[in-house]
Amino acid sequence: MDRLLFVASEAYPLIKTGGLADVAGSLPEVLRQKGMDVRLLLPAYQHVLESIDPPALVADMEVDGDALRILSTRLPGTKVDTWLLEHPLFSQRPGNPYHDSHGAPWPDNADRYMLLCRVAAAIATGEAGLDWRPDVLHCNDWHTGPAIALTHLREQRPRTVFTIHSLAHMGLFDRATFERLRLPQHFWSDSALEFYGQCSFIKGGLVYADYITTVSPTYATEICESPGGMGLEGLLSQRRDRLVGILNGIDSQVWNPASDPYLVQTYSQESVADKARNKAALQADLGLASLDDRPLVGLVGRLVEQKGLELILPVLADILACPVQLVILGTGEPRYEQQLKAAATVNPDAMAVVLAYDESLAHRIEAAADVFLMPSLFEPCGLNQLYSLRYGTLPLVRSVGGLADTVVDSNPHTLADGSATGFVFQRPDAAELLAALRRACALWYEQSVWRQVQLNAMSQDFSWQQSANRYLQLYNTATDS
Ligand code: ADP
Repeated sequence: MDRLLFVASEAYPLIKTGGLADVAGSLPEVLRQKGMDVRLLLPAYQHVLESIDPPALVADMEVDGDALRILSTRLPGTKVDTWLLEHPLFSQRPGNPYHDSHGAPWPDNADRYMLLCRVAAAIATGEAGLDWRPDVLHCNDWHTGPAIALTHLREQRPRTVFTIHSLAHMGLFDRATFERLRLPQHFWSDSALEFYGQCSFIKGGLVYADYITTVSPTYATEICESPGGMGLEGLLSQRRDRLVGILNGIDSQVWNPASDPYLVQTYSQESVADKARNKAALQADLGLASLDDRPLVGLVGRLVEQKGLELILPVLADILACPVQLVILGTGEPRYEQQLKAAATVNPDAMAVVLAYDESLAHRIEAAADVFLMPSLFEPCGLNQLYSLRYGTLPLVRSVGGLADTVVDSNPHTLADGSATGFVFQRPDAAELLAALRRACALWYEQSVWRQVQLNAMSQDFSWQQSANRYLQLYNTATDS
């Protein structure tokens, strides 16, 4: 049986700030079910330790002079053996894993995640004194990139896979920080970790991994070019033969409208009409007018430029005038939060904004809305549009990254051949977004056509099965070479 060490900075349900946690919380379990011997390695954040039963001790270790412990627990809801790296840098730090309560990155993030990398590399190269050692080390996003670089300092190294969930975060630190981390000097080179005068953690994965994956085929193409590559397009296009786009799956137990415990009314393809009860309940919960003569549009996500807020805000009044009701759940940049909240205050019947991270409300919006708005400027994969499809909530997306790979625009041709699942517009332009929303509204009034598109959407299969098979193939290719 192949042994896999899967390393990430977050995994649902232990700790989650975004889509990475959803992937790290579900892919390892599917790989385990397919026969892999998996260990998930995560930092033992204070919040994690407070939320689990006392974990077992796997090992006391010293890595580069740092004393730490590896603890073992189960990822809740799975049978995945999860190893937690306990060290004061993680375990005595309340709040968000990456930043303080004002959104400023923790000043010692380089030290914190380099520690995670050193431990991952020590386990992966058999130097951690454990009786388990992986055939494949799979790292995710910038926090774990240097772990792959570090394995290259050893003769005995496993095969390595690095997954880009987003290139937008590169883990950039200044030269003084690089020196403080006591990395080998040859890592300070543009063919290693150096990136325009800074040290880039993500390059540890991009330069040194046997294979690089990213979370959709279209994003894999976009990052080999400017502007999608964000300055790394040269390196990525050089490594194009080692770069594979594999779509994320969704956890189809957590996101299942037929059994979702957060919903007032569960429903399936056979009972889509019942979905309306969730709309009525959400309207009541959020103080919206209880109208059933117009679509409800939902948006859940980080309120940041990437998610297309600059396309929504200029046409907010036109959006509401379609007419639709609009529900937004998210946290993010204060200027977006303030503008949205102000608009909701002026339009209490038509618009509700909840500035919070709320798992239950996210599920209830997915079930209640008719249309899910996701006009991202870039989107490596995107999960919310996949949840929306499953919930028969038609996604309205820009044709970019994983959104382009997963949503099929409704037009006469796709409506006729049964492939339509949502609404797609092309350019990052508020007028195009508005035009797509008007198309959606027009279709909503044709209830039988709308119902058919809902059924098309709900019958899409974005479970992990196929994608996990692609990872398995890649691990096999890597270990066979
Ligand atoms: P990203 O990883 O870029 O934030 P994704 O669509 O890939 O975007 O994944 C976002 C995940 O985080 C989804 O599971 C989404 O439901 C969840 N999410 C984002 N913001 C919130 C929020 N405010 N409350 C609840 N869940 C949220």
